[in-house]
Amino acid sequence: MATPSNAHSVSSFNIPTVKFTKLFINGHFVDSISGKTFESVDPRTGDVITEIAEGTKEDVDLAVKAARNAFDSGPWPRMSGSERARIMMRWADLIEENKEEVAALDTIDGGKLYRWCTDVDVPHVVSILRYYAGAADKIHGEVLKSSRNLHAYTLMEPIGVVGHIIPWNFPSILFFAKVSPALAAGCTMVVKPAEQTPLSALFYAHLSKLAGIPDGVLNVVPGFGQSAGAAISSHMDIDTVSFTGSTETGSQVMQAAARSNLKPVSLELGGKSPLIVFDDADVDIAVDLALFGILANKGEICVASSRVLVQEGIYEKFEKKVVEKAKAWVVGDPFDPKVQQGPQVDKKQFDKIISCIEHGKREGATLLTGGKPVGNKGYYIQPTIFTHVKEDMVIAQDEIFGPVMALFKFKTVEDAIRSANNTRYGLAAGIVTKNLDIANTVSRSIRAGIVWINCYFAFDCDCPYGGYKMSGFGRDYGLHALHKYLQVKSVVTPIYNSPW
Ligand code: NAD
Repeated sequence: MATPSNAHSVSSFNIPTVKFTKLFINGHFVDSISGKTFESVDPRTGDVITEIAEGTKEDVDLAVKAARNAFDSGPWPRMSGSERARIMMRWADLIEENKEEVAALDTIDGGKLYRWCTDVDVPHVVSILRYYAGAADKIHGEVLKSSRNLHAYTLMEPIGVVGHIIPWNFPSILFFAKVSPALAAGCTMVVKPAEQTPLSALFYAHLSKLAGIPDGVLNVVPGFGQSAGAAISSHMDIDTVSFTGSTETGSQVMQAAARSNLKPVSLELGGKSPLIVFDDADVDIAVDLALFGILANKGEICVASSRVLVQEGIYEKFEKKVVEKAKAWVVGDPFDPKVQQGPQVDKKQFDKIISCIEHGKREGATLLTGGKPVGNKGYYIQPTIFTHVKEDMVIAQDEIFGPVMALFKFKTVEDAIRSANNTRYGLAAGIVTKNLDIANTVSRSIRAGIVWINCYFAFDCDCPYGGYKMSGFGRDYGLHALHKYLQVKSVVTPIYNSPW
């Protein structure tokens, strides 16, 4: 593998000082009640960046109280949608002005490519905020066609206090995919960022205050899942929980919600997404899509194309090219613009991926390239490709969440559909073909929440995003997401002397 000499050295990039390390509750940065802190670690080196205040149940209680007061008697749910939009737009402008700083925070915290953060993640965050700001004054119910002498209509009301629990792989985008529609709907909220990547969320909280979001509307409580996260999902005074993370944790969140106040939950969970390449595909394009689909963000993407199904007519050619390109993939310091893949988020994730690779070898899959750590400092892993993978192997069924591709060969369209659906997940799929009939048939036959044809990771704010099967339920993005944060109320009144 062509690895640069600086693969695991820390670049001389001028990294900003971390300014915000405390909990953000009721418009103020505060220490945790226990006074405890936890380490935020730089995955490029394993070194500690800073200490973050550790929120636990008591802090979540305080944050929920602030959010409840802001909802019950504060201005946010009561102001016009256009006023909410104005403040959200101002927040978006401030984020745009501070793009480099927040991007650098996500890079040191999560090992994400800096240029990806500046060029994709942060601009996308700004778009999400502006998209939902645009929706804030267009939320309304409808007049119903009653069958009797009744005047009936619906009101769309904000659901109340929202708990958002987010993972570490897209600390900025997932923060705003949750917070923005909830704000547009008029809700107040408590956000728990992942313990691995709390830095940008706290910076966004600071900017929200400057933008004019009233105190108590947005509260950010970093902390661990078993304490702060569980306190949110089991809280009696939270009205809904929007969760993104693993399927195992999603199940715990749903159980806690059911056992507490029966709050509705939406779950965006794991995936094992197939990319299906048909014989008529341009092999070079397909290879680039396959590599992008599994190596972008070092494979730490819930919709990563971790299973690549290639039709037998082009399989040999595809395999040769994909291996060549994977070997030339540049792994190294994510601040270096030449680097294509940074370190995995932390030691735990690094160990999990290495152990999955070892498992794949023991199961009898053939390792075509990669499979090893890069360097001896930080959490870098070579782009890894397996072939001769059987559908029931662990590496074909379990989400690895790393730069590990499993290659499969198939004969017919029917084989491809059956194999693609042979998973407990259903988050995404990709199809590469020039044949419209194949594209239409396969896209309708795959049980997944999003299907990309001749592209991959083509996200848009207007495009609903979520899972089938054990990938969860509910949708982020698009106007669909607003409905997670709204209640529908029917209002009915008799009409005594209707002429109609
Ligand atoms: P995780 O489930 O371990 O953690 C996610 C969040 O849940 C974190 O904030 C964590 O602190 C919190 N948490 C952990 N235990 C909890 C509990 N008992 N109660 C409440 N909260 C708890 O997931 P992760 O390792 O941070 O992220 C990786 C997973 O997220 C992968 O499975 C990936 O596919 C999934 N993911 C899904 C999407 C999607 O949109 N479907 C997007 C990104 C990531």
